[in-house]
Amino acid sequence: MALQPNSALLVVDMQRDFMPGGALGVPEGDSIIPKVNAYIGQFAMAGAPILATRDWHPPETVHFQAQGGLWPPHCVQGTPGAEFHPGVKLPEGIIVLSKGMDPREDAYSAFHARALETGATLRDHLRALGIEHLYLSGLALDYCVKWTALGAIREVLGVTVLIDATRAVNLAPHDAEETIETLVRAGVQFETIETLWVTCKACEEFGVTPLETGASAAEEAIRSAEATVHGSEP
Ligand SMILES: [Zn+2]
Repeated sequence: MALQPNSALLVVDMQRDFMPGGALGVPEGDSIIPKVNAYIGQFAMAGAPILATRDWHPPETVHFQAQGGLWPPHCVQGTPGAEFHPGVKLPEGIIVLSKGMDPREDAYSAFHARALETGATLRDHLRALGIEHLYLSGLALDYCVKWTALGAIREVLGVTVLIDATRAVNLAPHDAEETIETLVRAGVQFETIETLWVTCKACEEFGVTPLETGASAAEEAIRSAEATVHGSEP
């Protein structure tokens, strides 16, 4: 496989509060940082646009438990927890889109996000850049990555989830698997850094071992989800 034409990489919510020990820590959320950085490097070398989203909530929102929502307070605007993890090598001048500013919305999908300076939405940016295929990395698989992937399908874009560069919250034990099955059924594709890039010279440069993937739970889940969708295939 190689990168689809007119592609962009979206790095979803790689913020301190979503890392282990943060206000809403995703299990092993920090373990994907080397992979996210490897993808950033690969897309940059391919000359493909890279965008990032962040959760950017007001102190009170229906998204938080105190106001009837699902979550403890996290990624409140201007707090240290809302900062990007310093280990994530976002390129200089990257387009950052913020979401969840409206106290009446959850805004899991990046298609609810916009640039604070210009008000331009993700859709606006993708159209301006001529993007036809979106590659997704970041946190969390079962919420913001999932809803962004489904939003992209709705926008008639091709979508690939970079499964080795995402992790799930798993509020319920099988949320990751169910998410993957939902996405497979919706037409979302899945790749790892080894399957996406035929040559993986840059993997070494970015500290990723080419054949590291092995049998992570998520990859197993893709296989079983695909088997379910495609019926009798082994
Ligand atoms: Zn949030």
